[in-house]
Amino acid sequence: MREAEHAVIPPLQVGDALLLIDLQNDFFPGGALPIARAETVVPVLNDWIEAATAADLPVYASRDWHPPDHASFINQGGQWPRHCVQDTFGAAFRDDVALPPRVIPISKGAAFDRDAYSAFDGTGLASALHQRGVRRLWVGGLALDVCVQATVLDALKAGFETHLIREGSRPVDERDGREAVTAMRHAGALLEPDAPES
Ligand SMILES: [Zn+2]
Repeated sequence: MREAEHAVIPPLQVGDALLLIDLQNDFFPGGALPIARAETVVPVLNDWIEAATAADLPVYASRDWHPPDHASFINQGGQWPRHCVQDTFGAAFRDDVALPPRVIPISKGAAFDRDAYSAFDGTGLASALHQRGVRRLWVGGLALDVCVQATVLDALKAGFETHLIREGSRPVDERDGREAVTAMRHAGALLEPDAPES
């Protein structure tokens, strides 16, 4: 996507919600668990935030929110470097993401002894969305092959029409990212914009 281009946003309607995954400093270049070219998702998702806000739709933003000695960290026997420790700069939302004042944060992975990749895991998000009348979800963020994938699969299981904002997500690993897209699509996710099977 060229600098001056804007994301093409389909018409949004009542019952839609935007769900942004883990747009936190630690997942961007310079952070503890940086994802290559993560910064490219920001202008895309900012266009989506603007469109959702203009349509008066809810915007949810998940965050990895780990205690200092979380089970997912390498020094605790996990597989990730120490990242997104509660109340640190690394755990904060990146400041060029134009989150609206009424953004609804979702904290996950806060238990000492277990990890949570999906924004639905242990958060009560599915009931909150159902209560609010949300039927269709637009999902983007980081990382495509980890937390975005887990979230999209859970969203489908919970009965939401689920769209992946393809240009608004980046993987930890390119090949895993392609496989994640295939898995999400096979589970019933729709790609935005639609793209041929890769
Ligand atoms: Zn984590």
